[in-house]
Amino acid sequence: MHEVSSGEILKILRELCAERVLIQTPEGLKGEAQALADFLEENGVEAIISGDINYGACDPADREAKLLGCDALIHLGHSYMRLHLEVPTIFVPAFAAVDVVPSLERNLGEIRRLGRRIALVTTAQHIHQLDRARKFLEKNGFDVLVGHGDSRVSWPGQVLGCNFAAAKVDAEGVLFIGAGYFHPIGVALATRKPTLAVNPYSGDAIWMDNEAERLIRRRWAQIAKAMDAERFGVITSTKKGQLRLAEAKRVVRLLREHGKYARLIAMNHISYPALEGFDFDAYVIVACPRVPIDDYENWRRPVLTPPEVEILLGLREDYEFDEILG
Ligand code: SF4
Repeated sequence: MHEVSSGEILKILRELCAERVLIQTPEGLKGEAQALADFLEENGVEAIISGDINYGACDPADREAKLLGCDALIHLGHSYMRLHLEVPTIFVPAFAAVDVVPSLERNLGEIRRLGRRIALVTTAQHIHQLDRARKFLEKNGFDVLVGHGDSRVSWPGQVLGCNFAAAKVDAEGVLFIGAGYFHPIGVALATRKPTLAVNPYSGDAIWMDNEAERLIRRRWAQIAKAMDAERFGVITSTKKGQLRLAEAKRVVRLLREHGKYARLIAMNHISYPALEGFDFDAYVIVACPRVPIDDYENWRRPVLTPPEVEILLGLREDYEFDEILG
């Protein structure tokens, strides 16, 4: 597993006989996208940069590439996701340079509190170091389990903000390597096991129990706010890897069966301002699970995930994280 260089991208494009390409980038790699476009044009391939910010491999711009007459799409920053794409697509994941082992070494005492048999997971940014991390932990007496995950991820041990399948193995606890809280909170809620997040940048180790509790409390508050709602907008996504039409229809059906008014809405970029003017008391987002959880403060109406609707309707008692499984 190594970084894909500009030269390798050019080689693949030549093999594809591609004359024009679209380059898609997340916010943090705009400079790299521009440099790649310059490099490709110097080497005889016409390059167009997509100005739409991209958040994941779930949102490839293959339709846009086709519309623009491109022979291929270059998707920067995320690893391969199995989707039906309209043009050949080169996924170019971005691996972080930080060494993960020193942060594990520093936190061995905390990691031991997980038990001897531990699951090891990380995000795509650190996945190239997962094997080194596993060997280091094994040398220190742990039985390390790296789950295969499902077809939504590219590598064993990889988790996404919408998919924690790789963490669901027969371990006593889960060790997450990476920055940010969303993924390890998701791991803790999806596995119901003690979860420790070790941040390789800061060297800190944080237990996720309290963080998960705090998130659940916030989500129960959203559910409580939606208790009196009668009219629900159920939003499905038109992004290829977030499209969950059958699940959205199931949610509409459930709401209607419980006497609520529910209407299906399809959107590409889901945000509250675009919905102002519609007559709904609450929304359900059946797309990227991060949207209602990360962005709810920007919504003037309660905004729920599908499992939260089930709680609202009295069909479920335990809180469950929304996941897109492959
Ligand atoms: Fe990430 Fe959301 Fe896409 Fe999942 S659906 S890959 S969490 S952006």
